[in-house]
Amino acid sequence: MKVIDHLKDAKRTLFSIEILPPLKGKSIQSIFDGIDPLLEFQPSFIDVTYHREEYVYKKREGGYLEKVSIRKRPGTVGICAAIMNRYKIDAVPHIICGGFSKEETENALIDLQFLGIDNVLALRGDSIKTEPGFVPDPDGHHYALDLVQHIDKMNNGIYLEDDVKDMAPTNFCIGIAGYPEKHMEAPNMASDIKFLKMKVDAGAEYIVTQMFFDNKKYFEFVDLCRKNGINVPIIPGLKILTGKKQLTGLPKIFHIDLPEELYENVEKAKDDKEAKEVGIDWCIRQSKELIAKGVPCLHFYTMGLSDSTRRVAKEVF
Ligand code: FAD
Repeated sequence: MKVIDHLKDAKRTLFSIEILPPLKGKSIQSIFDGIDPLLEFQPSFIDVTYHREEYVYKKREGGYLEKVSIRKRPGTVGICAAIMNRYKIDAVPHIICGGFSKEETENALIDLQFLGIDNVLALRGDSIKTEPGFVPDPDGHHYALDLVQHIDKMNNGIYLEDDVKDMAPTNFCIGIAGYPEKHMEAPNMASDIKFLKMKVDAGAEYIVTQMFFDNKKYFEFVDLCRKNGINVPIIPGLKILTGKKQLTGLPKIFHIDLPEELYENVEKAKDDKEAKEVGIDWCIRQSKELIAKGVPCLHFYTMGLSDSTRRVAKEVF
């Protein structure tokens, strides 16, 4: 079932999660162990992130360094198929532009359709750590907008080989990312919203937000979207703060602000265990307010740690 249909049919705020593939060489059991404790809250869909290649330097005989491309967390598509097969829960693979030619993207989407996966979250992807900015594949998509347009064409039976007739239309529900605190590269909020609207106009049916810890930022973002003619559901993405280091780590990685009250309470915590309690309590408060305001779904970035998500879900669902 498509995410958009889950949202349309919902009589209450839905529960969904995002998980990461395990590190290469680890078993898929870690994925199941992360999902099982959350099944009682009936996740409507489960997103699985995509991780592109990284470059590392390996020391070789004679002391010279070889630049090697590695993918630390492969397996997104396989995990999605396994989730659908094992739990009968809709899986949403994240599809990124980076590292893919247009043809590879198209072939990956065909694989997804053949597996019965009819949801995707279309993203540009982050830049490789060793590169100063995002560099698309020479024959790949530059922006998530281009990817959305590509998928929308396939949904209308138009593939890259335009001389082949009678192509079967795909049937993807397309989700996209939105940033209540602005995407880090956007010169200002207005331009970010302009491109967000272009993605929606190109066929995206819902938005999932970057994590935020101040609900006000989410409500203001939704208002701004509505004023700019973006009328699709906007699903809040929530991360539970679980350790003291995240006070600096989360703003650095995700370009978000932490509210003063949260910062002070985590600072005061004597160790990570206490900091985690503060984070769980904060997320319960955030979730309750979001539900009271009638948000369509709460989407939890579990990062594979289900116990804190379980504690929040128990309080709010
Ligand atoms: P875009 O929508 O392409 O936007 C990127 C930047 O370019 C923005 O500043 C935007 O304002 C600007 N822009 C957009 N279109 C245009 C245009 N046509 N012309 C000029 N400027 C434009 N990353 C991963 O690698 N794997 C994942 O699984 C993953 N999952 C994510 C899930 C969510 C919910 C979120 C919020 C992010 C996720 N990311 C993931 C991170 C994401 O890939 C990065 O934030 C990336 O830098 C931007 O992706 P985007 O799809 O928002 O890009």
